[in-house]
Amino acid sequence: MQIIYTHQDLSDWVATQKKQGCTIGFVPTMGALHAGHISLLELANVQTDRSVCSIFVNPTQFTDPKDLERYPRPLEKDLALLRSHRCAAVFVPSVAEMYPVDEAKWHIDLGSLETILEGTFRPGHYQGVTQIVYKLFKAVQPDKAFFGQKDFQQTLVIKKMLEHFQLPIELQVCPTLRDEDGLAMSSRNIHLSPEERRRALVLSRTLAHIKELYPAYPLSELEVIGKALIQEQEGVDLEYFGIRYRDTLEPARDKDKATIALVAAKVGGTRLIDNEYLH
Ligand code: AMP
Repeated sequence: MQIIYTHQDLSDWVATQKKQGCTIGFVPTMGALHAGHISLLELANVQTDRSVCSIFVNPTQFTDPKDLERYPRPLEKDLALLRSHRCAAVFVPSVAEMYPVDEAKWHIDLGSLETILEGTFRPGHYQGVTQIVYKLFKAVQPDKAFFGQKDFQQTLVIKKMLEHFQLPIELQVCPTLRDEDGLAMSSRNIHLSPEERRRALVLSRTLAHIKELYPAYPLSELEVIGKALIQEQEGVDLEYFGIRYRDTLEPARDKDKATIALVAAKVGGTRLIDNEYLH
């Protein structure tokens, strides 16, 4: 596995692979890797000739400086994990490498995706996400990019960005990996105490319950039930629970189109998100 720190070295490596006719599959991450990240890498390995992961904790997408500061960074462990799962190259740039000059404030039109759900609670987050992912796409020049359903709104934002810049990159949305108890895997889960972890299970449990009730109950009632179940759980502060159309994330009014339930909550000091396709 090539460990690459600079744009120059990455560009040389990419050029060599392309000259050999190899396709490139890209998995952008912020590190503290778990089986969810590895499942994306494995898909990249199956679907393309060369897999590239990036590990970069992007400061411009954090709304809470404390969250940025305490974001886990176990680099050596991450590199060993990637190596053992046949990652062809990992790009590990510094902040100065990604943001060398004071650049003009980044802004692209993301429509309502910027202001609803995650956008309400993390203003500016998706501008930061598109800013860094655009730079990474330009640097890696992948044929396919692999993102997790876990961050569902992010996948729609990336789709919009690809359209905006007309980038010829295929976006693959990959299923959410969960621990045995149902908790969606996340780099932030290590911050949960055993008691908080137990409490956090209300998120996946509620989503699964709502999916079960879905055929028999009206949407408005399902949303009320979902919110109530989470609000009843001590130690969990609900930010939102919504049933939305899957293509736009606008509130779902009937069951004629594909829908998704999405949730965000704080458990102790840790913010968690999760979602489930309803149909
Ligand atoms: P992150 O390092 O949190 O920025 O995540 C990097 C990528 O891994 C994103 O596309 C996430 O959606 C994806 N990811 C995070 N958690 C999971 C999970 N539990 N299952 C599948 N993919 C995930």
